[in-house]
Amino acid sequence: MRQLLSKRKVYTKLFLFYCFIALVGLISNSLLLALLIFTVALLLWHYHHLFLMDKWLWRDRKLSPPISEGIWGHLFEGIYYLQRRDRRKKRELRNIVRRFRDGAEALPEAVVVLTDDWSIIWSNKLAQILVGLHWPADEGQRLDNLIRHPDFLQYLKHAKFEQPLELASPVNDQLTLEFNIMSYGAEQYLLIVRDITQLKQLEQIRKDFVANVSHELRTPLTVLQGYLEVMDDEHLPDKAMWKKAHNVMLDQTKRMDSLVQQLLTLSRIEASARVQFEPIVDVPVMLHQLEQEAQTLNREKQHSIRFDIDDSLKVTGVTEELRSAFSNLVTNAIKYTPAGGEISVSWQRQHLKAVFAVNDNGEGIAAHHVKRLTERFYRVDQARARNTGGTGLGLAIVKHVLSRHNSRLMIFSEPGKGSSFSFSIPAELVLGQKTKNRGEKPL
Ligand code: ADP
Repeated sequence: MRQLLSKRKVYTKLFLFYCFIALVGLISNSLLLALLIFTVALLLWHYHHLFLMDKWLWRDRKLSPPISEGIWGHLFEGIYYLQRRDRRKKRELRNIVRRFRDGAEALPEAVVVLTDDWSIIWSNKLAQILVGLHWPADEGQRLDNLIRHPDFLQYLKHAKFEQPLELASPVNDQLTLEFNIMSYGAEQYLLIVRDITQLKQLEQIRKDFVANVSHELRTPLTVLQGYLEVMDDEHLPDKAMWKKAHNVMLDQTKRMDSLVQQLLTLSRIEASARVQFEPIVDVPVMLHQLEQEAQTLNREKQHSIRFDIDDSLKVTGVTEELRSAFSNLVTNAIKYTPAGGEISVSWQRQHLKAVFAVNDNGEGIAAHHVKRLTERFYRVDQARARNTGGTGLGLAIVKHVLSRHNSRLMIFSEPGKGSSFSFSIPAELVLGQKTKNRGEKPL
């Protein structure tokens, strides 16, 4: 703590000066003149220091004070001390503001600080990307002049900020934003805008999924219910009718069963992010079994089905999942190729990879459908796919299985000419390679 000026000391000093001057005046016989000269000199000295202070504060703008003694030295030192404290406080304040802004910039949300009449005080960079606010260009602008959406204006007007507001972004209508306003400090508001596009999409996917599953299950149930309702005690069907009804009911039950099985497979694959790979998956044996099954399935349509299998080509992976992928692709080719078609299935080594391909000369698929085929429940022709007993989940399962085996499904198709579904198992999962083999000796 600095010492205050001692009034007593100052007045004593002044008094002693005057005494001395008076003495000099008495000796030189000009007392009044001596006192006058001293008073004027004192006044000039004070004025000189006032000008020094004026120059220091307004012209030099230096921190260090003019060199001076006595009362003025004491005052200069006091002002110097206050200025230093002021600068330090400003620096601290600047750091706090910078830290706040850095924090707000790092947030994954757009942040806008507003006055209580909705004028912009500050906004972060994300506010520019999500809502098109520019800082510092928009500083002082009213928010309701910059975001003109009627729902937003109503939201500001009613000031019921407990509930957030959902709106399309004013700069990109593909984005869905959530606006939250909260009071912040004295008569200020904080607007926080969150991009919830992905959340909305996921919610939509979930809703679609539930709707699709319910729809798919309800269809066979309605058929069963219809038959059961007409077959009460009094109206038992005749033999021919019963045979037909029995077949239809059996088909529908099988359809429900396969839907539930496929759903279970899908959820099992999705639920277990990491699974233990079996060291050897004997794909050739698996494909020979599949060939037998395909021939059984093919009895009705009499396609010519050719399997071309490299019997030495084994991989590491998840047997049941791979079986499901191979089987889905072969079954689809049989299902979606008109009777008497040609189907070829191959499992061959290509460079260091193992390539599986199913080609058919069936109905083919238009390009705009191809990119959506692996979505759950997506079918090119809903009615026909259902008639073939399809669930719309087969290719979704294939996609998941392949991604787990570091592979991707490739689809080439031309309407009217046929389709080719293929994928390649990467070298690191193929056994018998000279490098990185897992469990088997190199060939
Ligand atoms: P589904 O159980 O309906 O067969 P998938 O997911 O296996 O479901 O197949 C999705 C859709 O892709 C099918 O409904 C069908 O329209 C089309 N599709 C699949 N494979 C073929 C193919 N080989 N030829 C023509 N269309 C096909």
